[in-house]
Amino acid sequence: MIQFEPVLTKGIGKVDLTNIDVYEAQGGYQALRKALAMEPQAIVEEVKKANLRGRGGAGFPAGVKWSFLPNDGRPRYLTVNADESEPGTCNNRTLIYANPHQLIEGILITAYANRITQSFIYIRGEFKRGAEILMKAIEDARRKGYVGQNILGTGFSQEITVHRGASAYICGEESALLNSLEGRRGEPRVKPPFPAVVGLYGCPTIINNVETISNVPHIIKNGWEWYTKITANPDNPKSCGPKIFTVSGCVQRPGNYELPMGVKLRDVIEIAGGLRPGRKLKAVQPGGSSTPMLTPDHLDVPMDFESVAAAGSLLGTAAVIVYDDTVDLVDVALYWARFYSHESCGQCTPCREGTHWLERVFTRIKEGGGTEGDLKMIADMQTQMAGTTICVLSDAAVAFPASLLKLFPEELDRYINRVKEVRPA
Ligand code: NAD
Ligand code: SF4
Repeated sequence: MIQFEPVLTKGIGKVDLTNIDVYEAQGGYQALRKALAMEPQAIVEEVKKANLRGRGGAGFPAGVKWSFLPNDGRPRYLTVNADESEPGTCNNRTLIYANPHQLIEGILITAYANRITQSFIYIRGEFKRGAEILMKAIEDARRKGYVGQNILGTGFSQEITVHRGASAYICGEESALLNSLEGRRGEPRVKPPFPAVVGLYGCPTIINNVETISNVPHIIKNGWEWYTKITANPDNPKSCGPKIFTVSGCVQRPGNYELPMGVKLRDVIEIAGGLRPGRKLKAVQPGGSSTPMLTPDHLDVPMDFESVAAAGSLLGTAAVIVYDDTVDLVDVALYWARFYSHESCGQCTPCREGTHWLERVFTRIKEGGGTEGDLKMIADMQTQMAGTTICVLSDAAVAFPASLLKLFPEELDRYINRVKEVRPA
């Protein structure tokens, strides 16, 4: 089994890292002290050289994103996306609940590097306890002089505001999140302009996910070279660093596992206890409900952004959902279709109508009323819904059905053929 010395989850479950004294005793806030002695631009360069890729799903390089902020005198904001909502994903939750100071330290360094004085943490409504933990941690950090005015006597000031969302999936999309934070309806905005240029209150805004920001103190403390060496797939220098995989579904020990980027899919499944005895692997969604399935032929695929894409899927949030031979994938398709139909914000016709149609089609198939025409409709919806809308929820909604049709047509045929048997020709 793969061995890995955890970085982001180190100490979790062993010591109480929500206690600021414990966090400091483990070396916490030393990276902030180091950062505050550096030039802000040097920090941006360090993060760029480390090639820290956004952990929220898209994998966009964080340092590059930071470099897009225009220097035009408008206020700048940092917004941490803690609206973790991709089904199957709960790594941000662990980082917030069990190591809030790591996130706060990352926020402080990121804000200093980008000359930002106000940060927000937009946290999903269900994480009520998480919001309380963060607010207490911010106040503890304030008492120690890490938050507020003139931090550690350096002249750098930072306020961090925790804002609870109302649990809409779409508010995890960065521009819908900004609308929600501004008190508007949580609907995605047309991009470009990207938030880095026109974000919160029309001002340049960095939006990074909790796990992304939690990596920052470690990069500053240990240097970019150390960071780029954290990989199980040295052949691919484009993806590196620690990654928390959330493994769920048909494994014996579902949970969060911190592993190096590029670890093989089979190792991720194995560390989660593997399948139940006697069961065979049928399929895996490697990055949450929005990602196409992989098959047992892909067990040796390195779990990094490029390799998973080359295999026909996406690393996404690294929420590895495992399906064994007892799972009816048509049930899963219907389950996801209901989810996306419920969560579509309704602005774009292909998404509003398409998600609803997918739910109807899979309900019909499941109930035994499906036809060959429904299979064609699923194939058509793939082209009509993907790449035609304001945000990627529409693309996400067709990802599973499209891979079901492509990789497991027999799962659908079983239902369609059953109809043929029942109905005389
Ligand atoms: P995206 O590729 O459009 O953007 C990624 C990031 O890079 C964004 O912050 C965007 O503003 C920035 N960016 C991209 N091009 C830019 C440019 N030219 N200038 C400035 N900034 C630029 O992806 P997205 O729509 O933000 O996110 C999609 C991903 O979200 C999916 O891959 C999915 O896996 C993930 N997702 C995550 C969750 C979760 O709970 N974490 C939930 C749903 C979806
Ligand atoms: Fe809303 Fe769907 Fe359009 Fe995204 S794609 S903006 S969720 S209607």
